[in-house]
Amino acid sequence: MGKVTEKLNVLNTFIPEHVTIVAVSKTKPNEAILDAYESGHRDFGENKVQEMLSKFEDLPKDIRWHMIGHLQRNKVKMIVPFVHLIHGVDSVRLLNEINKRAAQVERKVSCLLQVHIAEEDSKFGFDEAELDELLGPDFKEKYDCIHFCGLMGMATNTDDKEQIRKEFAGLKKLFDKYAPLFDEGDWTTLSMGMSGDFALAIEQGSNMVRIGSAIFGERNYH
Ligand SMILES: *Cc1c(COP(=O)(O)O)cnc(C)c1O
Repeated sequence: MGKVTEKLNVLNTFIPEHVTIVAVSKTKPNEAILDAYESGHRDFGENKVQEMLSKFEDLPKDIRWHMIGHLQRNKVKMIVPFVHLIHGVDSVRLLNEINKRAAQVERKVSCLLQVHIAEEDSKFGFDEAELDELLGPDFKEKYDCIHFCGLMGMATNTDDKEQIRKEFAGLKKLFDKYAPLFDEGDWTTLSMGMSGDFALAIEQGSNMVRIGSAIFGERNYH
């Protein structure tokens, strides 16, 4: 058993079964991914299109690739044929582009709408008023190649647990607010929580956590 699998096994002892762990493999080599893959793990997250593409090409085809980063519109067409779930849909223009490219490959693409819940300005996402407008009367006809699966958010990078808890609770509230618009089994996924705050996120109702450094170790950027 490799080091990555050991870490995943430890996480699995206290992350409940209904919570999907997306192993965030950005910057990490294929061998690290295969370590987890061979123990049965299938959900991996990347935040750069080029990196996801080359890993997709090199690695087993039953891996479920999650695009977790900010996605540029001009790169949508490269991932639409195979991506499992796009977490960071943060604008109507991006959603339009995904819908258009999905139609071209005759695929319904699963998306999470990213919500701005953090204090920092730098984090992308919709606010509640924008979501109200987007999820208005005709959104299902308009986005006929989008499978709206739920919401994603990132809390403020702070040690203040109460603040993080409040931000996650706010996102869960929005998730519940829009649920009645969808058919049973459609609006299922609330993606919140990373290595530093996943326990708080799960406590507040997350059912998908995006964990990188706690599985693969610290990242080296150069
Ligand atoms: C990198 C990244 C993560 C994982 O971060 P860790 O702190 O390493 O767990 C989660 N979500 C997003 C959107 C990321 O870009």
